[in-house]
Amino acid sequence: MAARGLGSDSFGGYRARLVEDLRAKGIRDLAVLQAVGEVPRHLFVPDVLTHQAYDDTSLPIGHGQTISQPSTQALYLQALELSGRGRVLEIGTGSGYQAALLARLSPDVVTIERLGPLARVAKEALAAAGVRNVLVITGDGTIGWRPLAPYEAIVVAAAGPSVPAPLLDQLEDGGRLVAPVAQGRAQSLVRVTRRGETFEREDLGPVQFVPLIGRHGFPREAADEGKPRT
Ligand code: SAM
Repeated sequence: MAARGLGSDSFGGYRARLVEDLRAKGIRDLAVLQAVGEVPRHLFVPDVLTHQAYDDTSLPIGHGQTISQPSTQALYLQALELSGRGRVLEIGTGSGYQAALLARLSPDVVTIERLGPLARVAKEALAAAGVRNVLVITGDGTIGWRPLAPYEAIVVAAAGPSVPAPLLDQLEDGGRLVAPVAQGRAQSLVRVTRRGETFEREDLGPVQFVPLIGRHGFPREAADEGKPRT
């Protein structure tokens, strides 16, 4: 990854173009658009892909994983309806880019990645981008992170067979969780809002994500199946 910090790069014009692209695709949340306009995505992609960093596309980051498409991530962030005051949990750190966006929208972000090498590179990229309010944990995110629960919002960046029950349990009252859920070969993005012990579920449309592997996700063999996805 290139070692340049926030504000000291020459990619501002590319970020502004990406923001316009997302606006044209229906992203309306101004805080989300501002975060995309500020976070140096080129620090979160492999050096050989720097020239594609501000295209609205997913890109490979190694270990069979991807940094997701910016418009999909923006849709996620918009659906979380963050207050700007609560703690957020992300499952699937990947490159660390979405965590960096979350760090502009929330004072306190916890992100969990199951693959140690990716978690290490993500930590370095977050440091290079000057992000200080993200805790990166290596482990199985399907069990959440109880020591810092409850969370105002939880975002899951990989598709499981269902929404992991421990994550619902770690959501505060009124909190929102956004996750892709697989149904056969199809996947849909769902938003769950907690109301006491009731969980309201909405379908936000079709998506394509890598599998969520873990105790409350798919078994490990699922990681080796299928084609590259966002
Ligand atoms: N948010 C990421 C970004 O901005 O680059 C993209 C995430 S990528 C689409 C999905 C990630 O979820 C992969 O890095 C994968 O290793 C991770 N993952 C899959 N199952 C997981 C689990 N149970 N716990 C934590 N991470 C998991």
